[in-house]
Amino acid sequence: MNNSNVSWLGKNTPYIIAGPCSAETEEQVLQTAHELAKDPRITAFRAGIWKPRTRPNNFEGHGTMALPWLQRVKAETGLPVCTEVANAAHVEDCLKHGVDILWIGARTTVNPFSVQEIADALRGTDIPVMVKNPVTPDLQLWLGAIERLHNVGLTKIAAIHRGFSSLEKTAYRNAPLWSLAIDFRVQMPEIPMICDPSHIAGKANLLSEVSQMALDLDMAGLMIETHPNPPAAWSDAAQQVTPHVLLTELLAGLTVKQSN
Ligand code: PEP
Ligand code: MN
Repeated sequence: MNNSNVSWLGKNTPYIIAGPCSAETEEQVLQTAHELAKDPRITAFRAGIWKPRTRPNNFEGHGTMALPWLQRVKAETGLPVCTEVANAAHVEDCLKHGVDILWIGARTTVNPFSVQEIADALRGTDIPVMVKNPVTPDLQLWLGAIERLHNVGLTKIAAIHRGFSSLEKTAYRNAPLWSLAIDFRVQMPEIPMICDPSHIAGKANLLSEVSQMALDLDMAGLMIETHPNPPAAWSDAAQQVTPHVLLTELLAGLTVKQSN
């Protein structure tokens, strides 16, 4: 089940995608990106521009206005940039602004019509798309979303395991349900899987154990939320770490298996 080689994400594995939950200001985006780009282990930069929040009256992203910030990240650091899309208009904006990699969020993967709308907007391109598992522990919805992208001809597709809503109280924000992620890989062994320890853990102090588990399960990489001042973050403050902590503590503490 080793799927650690995804050419569109580069050569260095495990792939490390890092950056803030939300693009808050141009300065915050650029500062985070420049600190991350110093380290060759960083594969790509993430930042949410459109943020579907579960409850209203929270920051839902700057939208289109923040896309030039990602263009600056790409131009100044050389890192590929990725962001979440939830509808066809988002896809069109991203394609216009040279976003390198898109992802479909957990609240969108649950809706087949939304996924189909995104897939239709991507027809004729071959931009890489990563698909987060749906918030609900429903393997079929996750597989179905990937099939919809595959059906419009996309070939650069990855899955992101970000944990699942559960009524059971656990230490995690979203139950990892590792066995479900493994089932996904049995069903679609050709689709690389990246783990998002940030949304599983919900707290910075659990990131390292979740990240290590993902690597022990031969996942291809990690997406980790990173903010210059986590307590002041406009979204997901408790789970973000500074670029310095990511590079010098979290990544440095992980054991990576030698690939064979
Ligand atoms: C995010 O990546 O910031 C996010 C909102 O993720 P999810 O869709 O996994 O909740
Ligand atoms: Mn987040």
